[in-house]
Amino acid sequence: MGTLHGKRAIVTGASRGIGRAIARELARQGARVVVNYARNAAAADEVVAAITAMGGEALAVGADVRTAEDAGRLVAACLEAFGGLDILVNNAGITRDTLLLRMAEDDWDAVLDTNLKGAFHCIKAAQRPMLRQRAGRIINIGSVSGLVGNAGQANYAAAKAGLVGLTKAVARELGARGITCNLVAPGFVETDMTAALPATVLEAARSRIPLGRLGRPEDVAAAVAFLASDAAAYVTGQVLCVDGGMAM
Ligand code: NAP
Repeated sequence: MGTLHGKRAIVTGASRGIGRAIARELARQGARVVVNYARNAAAADEVVAAITAMGGEALAVGADVRTAEDAGRLVAACLEAFGGLDILVNNAGITRDTLLLRMAEDDWDAVLDTNLKGAFHCIKAAQRPMLRQRAGRIINIGSVSGLVGNAGQANYAAAKAGLVGLTKAVARELGARGITCNLVAPGFVETDMTAALPATVLEAARSRIPLGRLGRPEDVAAAVAFLASDAAAYVTGQVLCVDGGMAM
């Protein structure tokens, strides 16, 4: 029986990349998982099929985390299908990289709305059932960009730094009720998001990584699964970098 047997989880942005790996790992460890997506229903269905094929249980739910209404619907779908919610992973995120000089207000808003406000909406919706249970795990996916900054990512770094503050505030607010909130900060991970970067940028990144390689989505998923487990019961308000040592 897996470590997360009996737990019910929502992973936002789980149709691809890191979110998909997190959904699969939580399911592999026994959790029932809501696989959220924004547009890629077919990709989310594939994630559900893969989980089902390995004997797990999952449900694809389309919801745009930028709106409170969709976040509410997402949590409601989990409660209805699985009877509760134990683990919320705020993973959905986008980039709109460009230098500040060229950054349009819309680039700022889109990234802040998805990466930061999206987590706010989902935590708001999830806290009610978690408070009732007097237990819960909230894990936000940040980025080393939000810790050390990155040229061309003013919007993204601000959103991810905002998530650090949100994580710590929520950890303080909900700790007495048995709910932990932590943040996992990946470095460069091989997904669609980084596939869009020029090879020179990736090579420069690799040269700054002590472990000498980019991250895999599974590297991040393992850290999230730990924070979601009973073994991490006394860990809250923390930032865990999964970056091959890049940002230390
Ligand atoms: P990705 O491959 O581009 O996947 C993004 C996921 O987010 C997709 O499942 C997408 O759904 C979903 N999504 C986007 N907007 C959404 C919205 N409004 N509502 C719900 N879902 C939405 O990204 P990734 O590389 O796996 O990144 C996942 C997280 O890790 C992000 O928060 C990212 O900032 C963070 N991160 C990534 C890296 C990296 O190197 N890759 C490094 C540090 C941090 P659809 O498929 O439906 O579009």
